[in-house]
Amino acid sequence: MFTRNCLIFTRNSHRWVKPNGHDTGIKVFNCTARTKVPLIVKNKNLVTWYTCGPTVYDSSHIGHASCFVKLDIIQRLLRHYFNLNVVTVMNITDIDDKIIARANTAKVPPKELAKKFEAEFWKDLDALDVRRPDCVLRVTENMDVIKNFIRELIDKGKAYKAGDNSVYFDVGAYDNYAKLQNIGEDAPEPSKFKKSKMDFALWKAAKPGEISWVSEWGKGRPGWHIECSALAGHVLGPEIDIHAGGIDLRFPHHENEEAQSCARYCRPQWVNYWLHTGHLHLKDSQKMSKSLHNTISISSMLEDTTAPAFRMACLMSHYRSRMEYSNEFVITASKVLQNYINFVDNCQNYLNGYLKADVDNDTVSKLVVESANKIHSALIDDFNTSEVISTINELISAVNSILHSSRTDLCDTKSVAVIAASNLVSSTLNMFGINVNKKQSSVCDNYVEVMNILNDFRQSIRQLGISNKDKNVLELCDKVRDNLKSIGITIKDHGKMSSWS
Ligand SMILES: [Zn+2]
Repeated sequence: MFTRNCLIFTRNSHRWVKPNGHDTGIKVFNCTARTKVPLIVKNKNLVTWYTCGPTVYDSSHIGHASCFVKLDIIQRLLRHYFNLNVVTVMNITDIDDKIIARANTAKVPPKELAKKFEAEFWKDLDALDVRRPDCVLRVTENMDVIKNFIRELIDKGKAYKAGDNSVYFDVGAYDNYAKLQNIGEDAPEPSKFKKSKMDFALWKAAKPGEISWVSEWGKGRPGWHIECSALAGHVLGPEIDIHAGGIDLRFPHHENEEAQSCARYCRPQWVNYWLHTGHLHLKDSQKMSKSLHNTISISSMLEDTTAPAFRMACLMSHYRSRMEYSNEFVITASKVLQNYINFVDNCQNYLNGYLKADVDNDTVSKLVVESANKIHSALIDDFNTSEVISTINELISAVNSILHSSRTDLCDTKSVAVIAASNLVSSTLNMFGINVNKKQSSVCDNYVEVMNILNDFRQSIRQLGISNKDKNVLELCDKVRDNLKSIGITIKDHGKMSSWS
């Protein structure tokens, strides 16, 4: 048994190291600095981003969905608004205690179970319109990479093999622990095999009959924290611009990742910026988690709402904030989204002359410039999307009141600033991953259904006209047919039946 006297972790002595490179102009919250700091990337043409991926033992829930959608929004902004070439990497934890336990219950090999839930995870991300990472690394396919990392830590005196045949990271041999958050002032007590209670497993010795991999420390498998350090380091190297995940990963997972990697690369800082998304809570309830059995799967959520409405809900709360999920919240988000679709459609109607209004071009133009400036200020202030949504709501409300309060049939000039307002709304939403162009969204989905209803209705009326030998009714039916023909829809009558194309 090892003993170590008093290990006290305070974080005041740890300082965030400001990187050298391209200043993006964005201020981002940094948990090491505990404040907003300038986001400086090493190279604007190669920004490195690592996200902790899922442990694939069950269906993903809407807590995961909010994390991945929020990170997708930030990635889209960095790529399309700030013009950065972002390369994204994610791990898949395809071997773990939970996978083994679940596979045993289901009487299937762990590999098979992991494969099934990984496929479901990608399907969920696709349904949420989240761009897949550029590079995906699975733990079971990279055992040598992970073992090499552990070996280096042992060689550097930062890890040790204990009496239980597992390998542990020696927290006491590393100076900067508790860098990302306070972990209390209590001195950790020694435990049976570890030097300190704080030490965490890098290599877990296999239990009898359990799936395992051969190593110089005996049969076993990697601990969770080492996977991310090893896989991220394998492709992104000793300095990473951005590392992201949910706030629950900050301690101990991210703390341990940072400790291992700094120890391996002999650097004071491995990740320059940690991005943590806030929890999703069910309203009037606790944090949603598998262990509390209060989860809603992504697929069942998408039966009740749409991916754009859920994305809108994510935009309406700051990425770092706790998000209260409820039916009312999603309905509110859907209404905001519908308001944007209606606004863009209204502006198009104004341009096409269907909506007549006497608009002062300068007034609207000023509103557009002010809104664009506010949107920019919000985006460079730690990606404040909720502020952007408020700004867009105000712009829409102001332009709508101009369009509707000054209706006139005498107006013969058009304000192009109205179109600029519409463009600002649609391009901002498009950048966030939401299409508010009506032709390509809601109406398009219902178009076939509406035409079927109209065709059936006309067919019934026409049958009545034929039975009653009513010339007027038949003429009205022909008129509908001709009007539809003029917008490219053909109706064909076959005796008493009709079809459309
Ligand atoms: Zn991780």
